[in-house]
Amino acid sequence: MNTKDLAQEIHTRLLNHYGYPTWHEPLAPIAELVSTILSQNTNDINRDRGFYRLRERFPTWEEVRDAPEEEVIDAIRPAGLANQKGPRIQNALRLITKERGKLELDFLTEIPLEEARKWLLNIKGVGPKTAAIVLLFALNCPAFPVDTHIHRVTERAGLLPPQMSAEKAHSYLEDQFPQTAYYPAHLNIISLGREICGARKPQCSKCPLRDICKYYSKNRE
Ligand code: SF4
Repeated sequence: MNTKDLAQEIHTRLLNHYGYPTWHEPLAPIAELVSTILSQNTNDINRDRGFYRLRERFPTWEEVRDAPEEEVIDAIRPAGLANQKGPRIQNALRLITKERGKLELDFLTEIPLEEARKWLLNIKGVGPKTAAIVLLFALNCPAFPVDTHIHRVTERAGLLPPQMSAEKAHSYLEDQFPQTAYYPAHLNIISLGREICGARKPQCSKCPLRDICKYYSKNRE
């Protein structure tokens, strides 16, 4: 099977296994950017706790941008690494305002995808995964975010070449999956990574990808 067929097969099997998934509460682009920065190195629950505390304390993004740094840090503390994420969020909001004259990212849908990605990557603290999440989930652009689960599962399955960097994995996997699969495949592969193909011990006996998985065929008794 070539890699594109393998990607399609993974996608189809996970759709059969998990169904068509939905992203957490859809957010506007600026909110998604902030939420994704908060999600770095933490779980969804702590990300959301930090996010909603920030929203309660500062109802608008302009207020977050202009608030004293220590107040933003204090509001997002449940999300962890607050001393790093607070300034990151405020810098991002300030940069967007400086470049666009206001806090909006919708213009990114009107420029070529690679330019939009580059524009987001220019923001300090925004890496390829954060940029792809904002593009895919908030702006409905064809980008495929690669997190640690997606990297691990697709590498084990034999889709991603071994030891490819996270940065390269984004464009590589975008080439393998059809664009219509980006949204559901991203979410379903994360579910598989969390529930079955864990980092320490994959539970291959429960996995719907077992008979097409390179790791399984190499490691089974
Ligand atoms: S068969 Fe095992 S290693 Fe392969 S994707 Fe499934 S759980 Fe992961």
